[in-house]
Amino acid sequence: EVYADFAATTPMDKEVMEKVFANADEFGNPSSIHKIGKRAKARLEQSRRETAALLNANPAEITFTSGATEANNLAIRGIVSKYEHPHIITTEIEHASVLNTYKSLEDVAEVTYIPATKKGAIDMEAFRDALREDTVLVSIMLVNNETGVMQPLYEIGEMLAEHGAKLHVDAVQAFGHMGVDVKDLGVDLLTLSGHKIYGPKGIGVLYRKNDVVLSPMITGGSQERDRRGGTENSMFIYAMAEAMKKADAERTMRTVKEMQLKEKFLNAMTHAEIPFEVNGDVNQAASHIISIYFPWTEAEFLLTALDMAGIYVSGGSACSAGTVEPSHVLESMYGNDERVKKSVRFSFSHLMEEAEIDTIARALKEIYERLFIES
Ligand code: PLP
Repeated sequence: EVYADFAATTPMDKEVMEKVFANADEFGNPSSIHKIGKRAKARLEQSRRETAALLNANPAEITFTSGATEANNLAIRGIVSKYEHPHIITTEIEHASVLNTYKSLEDVAEVTYIPATKKGAIDMEAFRDALREDTVLVSIMLVNNETGVMQPLYEIGEMLAEHGAKLHVDAVQAFGHMGVDVKDLGVDLLTLSGHKIYGPKGIGVLYRKNDVVLSPMITGGSQERDRRGGTENSMFIYAMAEAMKKADAERTMRTVKEMQLKEKFLNAMTHAEIPFEVNGDVNQAASHIISIYFPWTEAEFLLTALDMAGIYVSGGSACSAGTVEPSHVLESMYGNDERVKKSVRFSFSHLMEEAEIDTIARALKEIYERLFIES
């Protein structure tokens, strides 16, 4: 079996898991005022300091959530609720947790969706045209989860520095693959997810610059400085900070390995004479993700054939209820093109062996030849 779907989720790092188990006796409620509670609180705040340091932020700017979906919701809804019918800019290529949040807010906000170009980055001219004096919030991801293409965040951050609109960045697919420094990027809100960086599922981070006021989405106790009620998931918060520290320490090793695997994969397919094209600009992509257009077959068929061969990847599409929906990302880039239905996402990890790349290329070749001979 070959798993090449690390952008969907990663396995938990064994060392991180061992540390979590070794600390499992620290079961206290961080809100309790006795010693057991205080110990839990101390560890929680230690994780918050470590998380903040890795993002070049202050601990008070970090809120732990149940994942990036909640963090994105909190960032967006927390800002939108402060204004009367505000103007907001986002992109057509955001993750569903951003896109569908905005879709649900269209009654109370005016939302402009910026398309991507064929290179996979957003159309900066369209962005410049969309930016208005009364724009209060801009939501744009750092690395696209389907193509891996990095978005022109530095350019946007610079433009907004003079403007005053808040910048919200989904950095879920970026952390661990490139430096994520909130001051460098000029962001006001930034989100991360545990399970994309070899941490647990169900834990996320929202960075919120200290001058940004957010209304809480989950009301309850005064946890997380009144921004999120509910007893903190201390065990997973600890795991998140440990996973982040390790991802940061190993970043060079991991990205070099991922890039080598990606290059080997492209070379192997070329060598095997499998017709393919890369979606988006490969030179602008993060190390671990690549989206490939196979002109000779539908993605739905290819995903099934690969699955049967024990190779696990994703469509450039969201799979819901067993049907493959066309990818909104590829649609934004290429319009109504057959490419949208014939693309597959491969996402790699430093944990993979080079031989696994050969296995994927061999399986693709076999599927291609089988189709070719049968038709
Ligand atoms: N944003 C991006 C870019 C993602 O790839 C994902 C993962 O699916 C999410 C947000 C959602 O993260 P979570 O599963 O932690 O809610």
